[in-house]
Amino acid sequence: MNERDGQRRVVIIGGGFAGLFAARALRRAPVRVTLIDRAEYHLFQPLLYQCSTGILSEGKIAPALRELLRKHKNAELVLAEVTGLDAAGRRVVATRPLGQQLEFAYDYLIVATGMQQSYFGHDEFARWAPGMKTIEDALTIRRRVFGAFEMAESATDPAERSHWLTFALVGAGPTGVELAGQLRELATKTLSREYHHIQPKDARVLLFDGGNAPLATFGPELSAKAATTLTKLGVEQYMGSIVTDVDGTGLSVRAKDGTVTHHDAGCVLWTAGVEAPPVAAAIAAATGAKQDRAGRILVNADLTIPDHPEIMVTGDAISLNKLPGVAEVAMQTGLYAGNRIKHDITGRSNGKPFRYRDLGSAAYISRGKAVVSVGRLHLSGFIGWWMWLFIHIGFLTGFRNRLGAVLSWWLAFTRDLRRERVFTTREVGFVPDIYTARLPATGTELPSNPRTEPSGTNAEPSSRPG
Ligand SMILES: Cc1cc2nc3c(=O)[nH]c(=O)nc-3n(C[C@H](O)[C@H](O)[C@H](O)COP(=O)(O)OP(=O)(O)OC[C@H]3O[C@@H](n4cnc5c(N)ncnc54)[C@H](O)[C@@H]3O)c2cc1C
Repeated sequence: MNERDGQRRVVIIGGGFAGLFAARALRRAPVRVTLIDRAEYHLFQPLLYQCSTGILSEGKIAPALRELLRKHKNAELVLAEVTGLDAAGRRVVATRPLGQQLEFAYDYLIVATGMQQSYFGHDEFARWAPGMKTIEDALTIRRRVFGAFEMAESATDPAERSHWLTFALVGAGPTGVELAGQLRELATKTLSREYHHIQPKDARVLLFDGGNAPLATFGPELSAKAATTLTKLGVEQYMGSIVTDVDGTGLSVRAKDGTVTHHDAGCVLWTAGVEAPPVAAAIAAATGAKQDRAGRILVNADLTIPDHPEIMVTGDAISLNKLPGVAEVAMQTGLYAGNRIKHDITGRSNGKPFRYRDLGSAAYISRGKAVVSVGRLHLSGFIGWWMWLFIHIGFLTGFRNRLGAVLSWWLAFTRDLRRERVFTTREVGFVPDIYTARLPATGTELPSNPRTEPSGTNAEPSSRPG
């Protein structure tokens, strides 16, 4: 109980879709809500690829959490990283920026920490191949993509030019496919008339995945359509390829027949695989909860941790009935968790388990082309694209962001304009600072990781669910 007003205390860890929807469900409930997030924004991850390729600004896809919560009289936001849990004492342990430890007592705890990028045990790849999970990732990718075209424009050696104009993407799930389509669209449309020494349309986009086809989770029909659309766009697809090494020169992949090939690339991007953030293991250890292979926490049908009816896990962080890691699951579990607490404190608990209403999934391939799967309904091409547009306008948080996104899309779709291309001159491609680094004559001179034999790992790219 809160000592000042006798109200129950609800702590929510994470202000993504699940955490925010839980806070919304509790907005008028007689509880004190403390939402702890290590970032001060609520990120709309599905549009990260548009931020990284210059269509949307970071502000349009990541409104400030404080602004979103300003009308919640019972909620406070704390910027801190949760690091541990005292389950018996009902306290969450967190670290505020600059390192001081904080503790938060709770009567109910909602875990909504999402997932982070996984490099399948090869975190050293992250240096060369940024993932796509945070605003920092999107801005790094923006810098590397637009930076690569600039580096190619001023290069005099044809080998160096072709190095910068080769983009490699690991993971052919929705994010990898969306990014691949955007890169070719950038090269053939937005940038096509802006350079004097290079032809941006010559940019090669290579897409690698350990599976047999892109967008495999959408089923064979839509997956085949996606593959055809990507081919028409000029995306080179290397399916059945396991990435064995990534370094400053590009990446090495092993094909199904065991052959290992090195692909020279000036920009490598990683969209394969997710794993739970470290806090999930701390929560599991403190409560005795089990975790699946990716670290998600196994929960009861009412989202509670076994033997801990006061702790619920929501969103991407849960392992329950193979629910996919998609925004709709996060929103629905967040609402369910908030409502369950409301019912519990008013003595109206109905004991109903969580039921997921599957509203389908969508992936954007290029302008006018998307795939949408809703139950038995499978849409692709132009109709799929319209559906994609309506879904994303509907789900963006806040009227201002919706209006801003529609205007930016209008410019991008009708006039090939991408207004959010600004990038800083650090970390362009693999170069820490373009004005202090000695540039290589070709990509082959770059690595600190030598381009030698592959490490022979089992890094299996897999697609993001949904
Ligand atoms: C690039 C990309 C594209 C996607 N596209 C789609 C799509 O088209 N359709 C779809 O339905 N889904 C899509 N998804 C999936 C969807 O975004 C996720 O399912 C959804 O964001 C999960 O919500 P969540 O609240 O569980 O986690 P998140 O949105 O990841 O939020 C977790 C929050 O917890 C915070 N956090 C984590 N650890 C701590 C800690 N220790 N202490 C404090 N705070 C912490 C994080 O800062 C974050 O704010 C996409 C995901 C990505 C990455």
